[in-house]
Amino acid sequence: MLYDIGEKPGKGTYQCTSCNKWEVTLDDGDRLPPCGECGSGQNIKYKKIK
Ligand SMILES: [Zn+2]
Repeated sequence: MLYDIGEKPGKGTYQCTSCNKWEVTLDDGDRLPPCGECGSGQNIKYKKIK
């Protein structure tokens, strides 16, 4: 399952599927931010890793 920037997929750790490096940890209600490696203009997707 993949998630877009701006989605609120719930609590967990998510990794960018473009660079496979950038990870973000969200709480319930947090939105996925742009990837810090790929840059803010890139339409990347995240996958849940934890
Ligand atoms: Zn990335």
